[in-house]
Amino acid sequence: MTSPALQVDTLIKNVLIVSMDETRRIITDGAVAVTSDRISFVGKSADLPKGTTAKQVIDGRRFVLTPGFVNGHIHVTGEPLTRGYIPDDTGFEENVWRWLIPLYQTQTPEDEYLSARLAALEMLRSGATCFLEAGTILDMQATAEGLNTLGIRGRIGAWIEDRAFDPAEDQKKKTDLAIRKLQDEMAVNYGNDPLIRAWPLLVGHSTATDEVWLAAKALADSNGGAISAHMSPAQVDVDWFMENTGKRPIEYLAELGVLGNNVSLTHAVHLDMNEVKLLAETGANICHCPLSALKGGYGATAVGLFPEMAEAGVNITLGTDGNNNGNASEMMRTIYLVAGLFKDARGRPDVFSAYQALEMATLGGARAMGLQQEIGSIELGKKADFVLHDTDRPEWRPLHNVANQLVWSADGRGVHSVWVNGVRVIDNYHSTMIDEEKLYADAQVAGEAIVKRSGLPAVSAWPIV
Ligand SMILES: [Zn+2]
Repeated sequence: MTSPALQVDTLIKNVLIVSMDETRRIITDGAVAVTSDRISFVGKSADLPKGTTAKQVIDGRRFVLTPGFVNGHIHVTGEPLTRGYIPDDTGFEENVWRWLIPLYQTQTPEDEYLSARLAALEMLRSGATCFLEAGTILDMQATAEGLNTLGIRGRIGAWIEDRAFDPAEDQKKKTDLAIRKLQDEMAVNYGNDPLIRAWPLLVGHSTATDEVWLAAKALADSNGGAISAHMSPAQVDVDWFMENTGKRPIEYLAELGVLGNNVSLTHAVHLDMNEVKLLAETGANICHCPLSALKGGYGATAVGLFPEMAEAGVNITLGTDGNNNGNASEMMRTIYLVAGLFKDARGRPDVFSAYQALEMATLGGARAMGLQQEIGSIELGKKADFVLHDTDRPEWRPLHNVANQLVWSADGRGVHSVWVNGVRVIDNYHSTMIDEEKLYADAQVAGEAIVKRSGLPAVSAWPIV
């Protein structure tokens, strides 16, 4: 039986496809077709139905086609405009309290609009098509508008925390306000654009009371969204929970009943094996941010139980975090790092293969966001979110094993073109949507102004002359 001819918008032929489908097919001389926002054909070029027509045909013989990467944790505001400003010899607590918080607090909606655009551009140009934001946005409207100008897919959340650490504060008032903010953000529709939506994301650590955790979980459950929260990058979270609840963080949250497959905990470096077991039992996801762990000295390779989590069946995703933690919003670096760090730390080259690292950055991220039916692989009917990696580059040649080379040779520099929701948002290494040069100039001006307003000192070990 012959298949009926297709009429498609875009047809990419003769391309090497890393499908990430159920059997992980790598398709040589492949073809991918896009109709509207979805993939309407994937297979061998030779198997395209006879008579198929396309508005645009692209010869893909120079490219490797992969699903767009899913960035499981990124601060799209607050840090992109102060990237690299904070010294790299500060630990977690000094980094957050002395530097990050004052820098976040001084930002305006205009700063957040710009930040979000810079973050989105960096992600897209290095192959990420979807992200889960960290829940640290001050102005959701400005941020969503900024993101929409780039055409990226993402889920974002307002800065939500409520614990009154100072006894002079009114706990009930703070909690009521946080819950109202959660409900309000879920109700807003950002410009009818299906790409950006709000989810009940929490700052996390010890900053949310039980009431806020329960409210966020209920909202995620009833709206088909997910929660995320920072947890246990450093021992300080474990110490707080032990002192105040007698339980470790994951034990406490599991008992509260707020863990589940629509929950993603970021960092999760300082865990014990019982917490790993509870993550597996509840289906909660973990987002590992190797760039932050390295720069902040979190101890991910010394004490992190990521290989044990994977063995226990915990879904691990990868994230890039803030631009004063890892400083780069490039997913291909995280893929490279996760494939290497634990091989070295454990003296076991069989830990986290290139294949597993690619799964974390695609299928794993999609699953943690509940979007596994829509994104994460190149399959018929899924959203057309994919990347063309340019193999006419020194780091790509010769090409022998595409999965190995995506992880160990290539990086975001080779990302030539990117489609999100059927739209080619990056073409020939640049955004098709915005004026990149203007964004860079605006970001420089705004970034310098933020630093000035914060009153923080410029720190350089070397003299600036
Ligand atoms: Zn973070």
